[in-house]
Amino acid sequence: AGVIIGLDIGGTKTRGVRFEGGVAVADESAGSSNVQNVSREQAALNLADLFSRIGGGQVAQVYAGAGGIDTDDDAAALAALIEPHVPGAKVTVVHDSRLLLAAGGASTGVAVIAGTGSAAWGRNAAGDEARAGGWGYLLGDEGSGYWLGREAVRHSLSRMNQGLPADELTAALLAACGVDHPNRLIALFHSPDTGRRYWAQQARLVVDAAAAGHMVSQELLDQAGKDLAGLAAQALRKLGIDGPVILGSGLGMNVVPLQDSFRSHLAAAGVSDVRVLDQDPVFGVLKLVSEASGAH
Ligand code: BGC
Repeated sequence: AGVIIGLDIGGTKTRGVRFEGGVAVADESAGSSNVQNVSREQAALNLADLFSRIGGGQVAQVYAGAGGIDTDDDAAALAALIEPHVPGAKVTVVHDSRLLLAAGGASTGVAVIAGTGSAAWGRNAAGDEARAGGWGYLLGDEGSGYWLGREAVRHSLSRMNQGLPADELTAALLAACGVDHPNRLIALFHSPDTGRRYWAQQARLVVDAAAAGHMVSQELLDQAGKDLAGLAAQALRKLGIDGPVILGSGLGMNVVPLQDSFRSHLAAAGVSDVRVLDQDPVFGVLKLVSEASGAH
């Protein structure tokens, strides 16, 4: 089948895996090349960085799953940035949530991304597809890393409004941001020096505080799981199926209280086949390529 390069393009990074004869022979990461988050110029630079390390040349196919791909035009614009690195290769660009379902070994069901951003996408046996969420950080991305980071800031500002002293979460946030008072978080939040990735990285402070018993942080993780379950339920309903549901990406794969909340809210909606992805979504590429070339 020749050389296949799989790309997973999220809000924080671009991960590329080079497959030769079905085996991963190179695995590299570069900055995000999702044009919803970075400029076209920056996306082009980050792709050039990735291809310089993973190798272009004699590639049969590039299969990319990317955030921020909502229309055919979005897909074509990203494909145009990839094509110069792999002359003659077939370049396919799909929404990043599609990789996840395939990486979970499923052909039908709903995949939920809980990473820097969030989104749900699924497919039923008739081939109908449905999405929910994935609106980006300005419009939605409930339950995502960015959402948790922003909620940590809002929590700290809300205590300041009430004249309350910093609690554990606020203290951790101030230390991580290198500022001495919550009032400095406002300018920092809006500063061009921070951004979607910066705030998404602060989600870990909420996870740590929750583990240490901080109740508001525990509630935030519960709310994140509930909102992500809501996205899954909406996609399932549109497809007329009740599973499987596959949860993946950084938060989805690693944060147990969020997984627990996700499962329990789906169980309450009658959905019991819920799985947590155990590998990076980029490994779904081989299944997608073989499905596309097989007869069905
Ligand atoms: C983007 C979606 C993407 C999701 C998960 C969101 O911010 O808008 O397109 O699927 O993040 O990466």
